[in-house]
Amino acid sequence: MTISQDSASWIRPVVHGDLPGPNSARFLSRQDRRESNARTYPRNLPIALAEGFGSFVRDVDDNIFIDFLAGAGVLSFGYSHPDLVRVATSQLQNLTHGLDFPTQAKDDFIEAQLTMLPKALRDRMKIHFCGPTGANAVDAALKLCKTATGRGGVLSFQGGFHGSSHAAMATTGLVAQKRPISNGMPGVHFFPYSYCARCPLGLNPAMCDTNCMEYLERSLKDPNGGIPLPAAIIVEVVQGEGGVIPATVEFMQRLRAVTRELEIPLVLDEVQTGCGRTGTWFAFEQYDIEPDVVVASKGLSGLGLPVALILYDEKLDTWSPGAHTGTFRGNQVAFATGTEAIRLFRRDDVLRNVMERGDQVRGLLEQLRRNPWVHDVRGLGLMWGVELADPADGSPAGHIARDVQAHALRHGLIVELGGRNDSVVRMLPPLNVTAEVVDAACEILADAVAACAP
Ligand code: PMP
Repeated sequence: MTISQDSASWIRPVVHGDLPGPNSARFLSRQDRRESNARTYPRNLPIALAEGFGSFVRDVDDNIFIDFLAGAGVLSFGYSHPDLVRVATSQLQNLTHGLDFPTQAKDDFIEAQLTMLPKALRDRMKIHFCGPTGANAVDAALKLCKTATGRGGVLSFQGGFHGSSHAAMATTGLVAQKRPISNGMPGVHFFPYSYCARCPLGLNPAMCDTNCMEYLERSLKDPNGGIPLPAAIIVEVVQGEGGVIPATVEFMQRLRAVTRELEIPLVLDEVQTGCGRTGTWFAFEQYDIEPDVVVASKGLSGLGLPVALILYDEKLDTWSPGAHTGTFRGNQVAFATGTEAIRLFRRDDVLRNVMERGDQVRGLLEQLRRNPWVHDVRGLGLMWGVELADPADGSPAGHIARDVQAHALRHGLIVELGGRNDSVVRMLPPLNVTAEVVDAACEILADAVAACAP
C-alpha cells in the first residue's frame, strides 16, 4: 500500500494490530542493538517509518498515522509537498553544496527571508548561516553577543530548551541531560519564566503582577545581586519542549524594556516558533517587540532539510572573518525549497490557515478541561499542549501523558510529550493541515484522554 499523492485527499488513519507491528519490531530491535542508547522518539513511538505524505505517515507495517509530531515541528508543509519536491529535485541536479559562497539559490533565499521580517527590521538585520542545526545557531548567537559586548555571562529561563550541543545545553533547563556532563559552559544563570499554570514562584496566578520579571529586573539592577551584566539573554517566545508555554505579553515586553535599558542583547530562540508556526512569521511579532538576535532553523526549508541561521542587528556585527564556520552552511537544496516555501505561504495564505486551524484546535481541546486530570490547555498558532496533573495534589502526571500518547498512537495519531516530567501532550501539525485532519486528530486525542484519565 502507498499513500495517495493527492494532497487534498483525506486518508483514514488505520492501525492493524498491536504496535510495534512485526516489521517495525524487526527494525526497532536492530536499532536497539546498533544505535546509541541516547535515541529518543522510537522509545515512546515504537514504529519504523516507510513513507509520508502531507499530514500522514505510513509505517513499515502499513499502519497509517496522522503525524502531529511532524519531524519535531520541521515539516511546515507536511511530508513531500509536490511543489517543494519538484524544486528540490531540480536544485539537486544543479548545485547541492556551496559552503558560504554566494549562489542564486542562496541569494533568493535571503531575499525571501528578509521580506518576511517586519519592515522596521528588514534593513538592519544581518544574516549568518550556521551549521545546520538549531543548537549550532544558538551557539553562534551566544558567541556573537559575547564578542560584541565583551561580556561572558548568559541569562536563560527555567524550562527553556535550546539544543543539545555543549553551549546550547548549558542554557537549557533539562537538569537530567546536564547532570552527567561536568565542566559545562560557565556563567549561565536561570530565571523563572511566565509559566502561570504552575507559577515558578509558587504564587497564585490571580494575584500575579509578572513577579517573575520583577525578580529578574531587580536582580540585574541590584548592585549586590551577584550577576554582572550578561552578554545575552536567550528566551523562547513560546517554550516548546518545556511544555508549550507562551510567554505572557507583559513578560516579553518588560524583558525587552529591561534589556534595552541595560544594553543586554536579547536573543529570541525561534527555532521552533519561527517560520509561521505561531501564525506570524516569527512569534515575536505578536508581542510587539523587536529582538536583537533571532535564531531560526526547523521550518526554514519547509521540507525538513537541514538549515539554520541567525538574524541579528548589524550593530552586533563585530565578528572577524571565520568567527563561526561550518562545512554544512550552504545547503542549496534547503535554500531552494525555503524560497519556494515562502512562495507557497503567500500563495496559499498559510499563515491564515495556522491562525484558523489554531482556533479550531483551541475550541476542540478546551472541552478537555472538564476532565479533572487536565491541568491546562494552551498554545499559539499550531503549537498546542495539554498538561496533565494529578487532581489530588496537582503534581505533573507524566505517566498519564505517556498512556495518552500510546493510546493515541494505537488509534492512528502521533503526538509528542514535553514539559515537567513529560506531562504535556504536544501537537505540532503541519502548517497547511486541513480542518478535517484537525477534527480527526483532536477526536483521537480527546478519546485518549478520556480513556487514560477517567
Ligand atoms: N531551540 C529550540 C527552541 C528548539 O525547540 C530546538 C529543538 N527542539 C533547538 C533549539 C535545537 O534544535 P536542533 O535539534 O536542530 O539542534
